[in-house]
Amino acid sequence: MARSVLKFGGTSVADLERISHVADIVAYRAARGEKLAVIVSAMSGETNKLVELARGAAGEHVTGPDFNDEYDVVVASGEQVTSGLLALSLRKRGLKARSWLGWQMQMNTREGHGAARIDGFAEDSGLSEAVEAGEVAVIAGFQGVTSEGRVSTLGRGGSDTTAVAVAAALNADQCDIYTDVDGVYTTDPRIVPQAQRLEKVSYEEMLEMASLGAKVLQTRSVELAMNHQVPVRVLSSFPAPDADNPGTWVCSEDEIVEKQIVNGVTYSRDEAKVTLYGLEDKPGVSARLFALMAREGVNVDMIVQANARGPERANIVFTCTSADSQKAEQVLLGSKDILNFESMDVTRDVAKVSVIGVGMKSHTGVAETMFEALYQKNINIDVISTSEIKISVLIDADYTELAVRALHTAFDLDAT
Ligand code: ASP
Ligand code: MG
Repeated sequence: MARSVLKFGGTSVADLERISHVADIVAYRAARGEKLAVIVSAMSGETNKLVELARGAAGEHVTGPDFNDEYDVVVASGEQVTSGLLALSLRKRGLKARSWLGWQMQMNTREGHGAARIDGFAEDSGLSEAVEAGEVAVIAGFQGVTSEGRVSTLGRGGSDTTAVAVAAALNADQCDIYTDVDGVYTTDPRIVPQAQRLEKVSYEEMLEMASLGAKVLQTRSVELAMNHQVPVRVLSSFPAPDADNPGTWVCSEDEIVEKQIVNGVTYSRDEAKVTLYGLEDKPGVSARLFALMAREGVNVDMIVQANARGPERANIVFTCTSADSQKAEQVLLGSKDILNFESMDVTRDVAKVSVIGVGMKSHTGVAETMFEALYQKNINIDVISTSEIKISVLIDADYTELAVRALHTAFDLDAT
């Protein structure tokens, strides 16, 4: 008998009516003979409210270990509510169901509170046996338990990660992530109406898409799915339970027969470019610079180093999020003498546009097509970076939409 893990996000459980619809979907799948574990998020907007409440109560102590453990207790409560409500709604339909909280299924976490990581599941919780016996396990997403027996949470969007972890632990055949979109698209349909739903996307591509701003799945959930080879499907929770609702499969590359050279175009406007002019060109300079950024928690993305005009001098350009750029700027100015650079420039009106596809591994000419398409629209490229399955460019933020559209067309992704 197939074992499936289903996950429903905040908009899918936003009120009793939506929860009732979710219960219909679960009942439909149970009737087909699937053994089910169902992970739920908090009702949409609820976690934000709880975060505000926790901050309001803490006043000035809003960071640090003195805050984070009780923050977890507060914000984890949103998922407790929905797990109970869905279990009740399933029982109303005559199904056997019960709720499971993080500590009850013993999802053990480490690395403290607020952004805990999953260590594993205790084997004697009874979860697997309950599912096997045909009881629907309704699991509160996002929450776990620390080695001290305290409530922990996995960071925002963490219910996706709970779902994949449970699927791996139960050795489920699939993990269906029900959400408010009907799949993963070739690009943002708000920018390109001809964007298409992908039938399949590889874990690697999805990782790039998730971290580049296609916020369908929490990045960590995709990493986990890749490591444990859990087939994940993204689909909409809105259609009727028996509707044709194929969604998008996130799976291993081997399962994708028709590999597109480029599968997606992504963009991010939350970018800043930092340029340091006239650094010394000698060993250890970059090490010192980026050690400093790491210590300050600045997440650096693209890096380019080039010789400067003067002798034994180099310029370094790097990008980070706009939010991090102020911290980066301050720290760099404060370390001007140690780092020994001549001047610095920080620009925030830049955007990163990327094309992603596993087919790039075995095809040439992708960069050429990309740069030609941008040139045709007279878009200047500021910084370029590449990986095996991705090419990113940094451009003037004003041209973001134009660039995304042009690339979507150039790589034949427009729906006909
Ligand atoms: N409720 C949590 C959040 O809003 C976790 C989740 O929904 O995935 O971040
Ligand atoms: Mg989410």
